[in-house]
Amino acid sequence: MKAIDTSAPAGGFLSWLGIGPGRTGAEDVAPAAERPTLEVVESPVDRRRRLLLEDIRSFLLAHGLEISPWTLMVAYEIMTGGNPDLSKAIENQVSTRRPVTVEWLKEVYAQSDEGDAVEGLTTMMGKLESAIEEFSKTASAAKSATSEYNIALEASVSDLRQASEAGNVLNQLATIARDMLARTQQIEVELARSEKETRSLQECLAEARKEAEIDHLTGLPNRRAFETVFKMEIETARETGEPLCVAFCDIDHFKRINDTHGHDAGDRVLRMIAQTLAKISKDKCHVARHGGEEFVILMRGRTLDKAWEMLDDAREGLASRRLVNRSTDIPFGQITFSAGIAEVQARERPRDALKCADEALYAAKERGRNCILRADQIQSNAA
Ligand code: GH3
Ligand code: MG
Ligand code: MG
Repeated sequence: MKAIDTSAPAGGFLSWLGIGPGRTGAEDVAPAAERPTLEVVESPVDRRRRLLLEDIRSFLLAHGLEISPWTLMVAYEIMTGGNPDLSKAIENQVSTRRPVTVEWLKEVYAQSDEGDAVEGLTTMMGKLESAIEEFSKTASAAKSATSEYNIALEASVSDLRQASEAGNVLNQLATIARDMLARTQQIEVELARSEKETRSLQECLAEARKEAEIDHLTGLPNRRAFETVFKMEIETARETGEPLCVAFCDIDHFKRINDTHGHDAGDRVLRMIAQTLAKISKDKCHVARHGGEEFVILMRGRTLDKAWEMLDDAREGLASRRLVNRSTDIPFGQITFSAGIAEVQARERPRDALKCADEALYAAKERGRNCILRADQIQSNAA
C-alpha cells in the first residue's frame, strides 16, 4: 500500500477523500456561495463507495484512531466483512466499554491472522490423516491378501513339482506358478515397506498437529487447543454431571513491565506466570494461553467456590513473591494477575460462560486488580 502523509490535517484529508466537513480555516477555496453549483448525479457504485468511506471515517474517528495506511486497511477489512474475528473482538471490546486502540488492534489482528493460518493447516492435516488412514487400510488388506495368496501358490507349486513327471504341460505350469510366486513375494515386500512409510508419515502428522496446538513462548496449549478441550470437557461434564468452570486470567499492568524492563524480560515473566498456573493443571484442570498476557483455565469436578479457591491460592502465591529481573538485578516488584470465573452449566450456551468470565475479569480490573471475581458477583451483559 502507498504511504500516506499522516501529518496532513484530518479535515483536509477527509475532505480530499470526499467526505466530512471539508477544509477549515483560511484556504485558497472560494466560499460556498461563490462557487458554481454542479448537480452531480451519483451512480449506485459511487454511492456504495461513498458510504464505505463514511463508515471507515466514522470508525476511525469514533475510536480516536490515527489515520495511517494500516488503520485504513484494518477499517476497510472490518467494514467489508473481510475479518469477522476482528469485528467480533471489537464488538466485544466495545460492549465491555474497553478502548479500541491501535496497539490492541495489532494484537488481535496478529491473532486472527495466526488463527487463519492454523485453521488452514489443521484442515489440511485432517484431510491428510484420513487419506493416509484409508491408504494404510488398503495397503494392509492387500498385504494380507497377497500373503494368503503366496501360501496357496507355494502349496500349488510343490504339488505341481511332484506331478511334473506326468508330462511337459505340467512342467510348463510349474514354471509359470514359480514365476508368479516370485512376483507376489516381491509385491509383499514392497507393501510391507509402504506400510512402514505410512506409519512414519502418520507419526510426523501427529507431531505436527501437536506443534500447531502449542504456544511456543510458554509451552502451554494455545487457544486452538483450548477450543478443542473446551468442547470435550463440556461433553464429559454433561455425561458425568460434574460442574465445569472457566476462568480468564490477565496479568496486571503488564505493559509497564515491558516498558520498564524490556520485551525479553516481559517474555520471561509471561513464562514464569504460565508455569505458576500450569502447576494447578491436572486431569480435570486445563490451563492454556489465550493470547497476549491472558490465560484461560477450565476446571471440571469443582464447584464455582472450590474452583475460585484454587485459582485464588495461585493468585496469592504469585502476589506474595518479590521477583527480580535476573539480567539487570532490578526488582520487578509485585507481579499480580486478575481473573474472572464463571460456571459453564449456569449458562444456556457454553459460549456465554466465556463471555461472563471475561466480563468478571474486566470487573476485577475495575475493582483495582490482583483479585478474582465470580461472574455471579457482577452484572452481566451476556444472556
Ligand atoms: P491491565 O492490568 O489492564 O491488563 O494492563 P496491561 O498493561 O496488562 O494491559 P494492556 O492490554 O494495556 O497491555 C498488554 C501488554 O502485553 C501489551 C502487549 O505488548 C503485551 N504483550 C502481549 N503479548 C506479549 C508477549 O508475548 N510478550 C511480551 N513481552 N509482551 C506481550
Ligand atoms: Mg493485562
Ligand atoms: Mg490483556
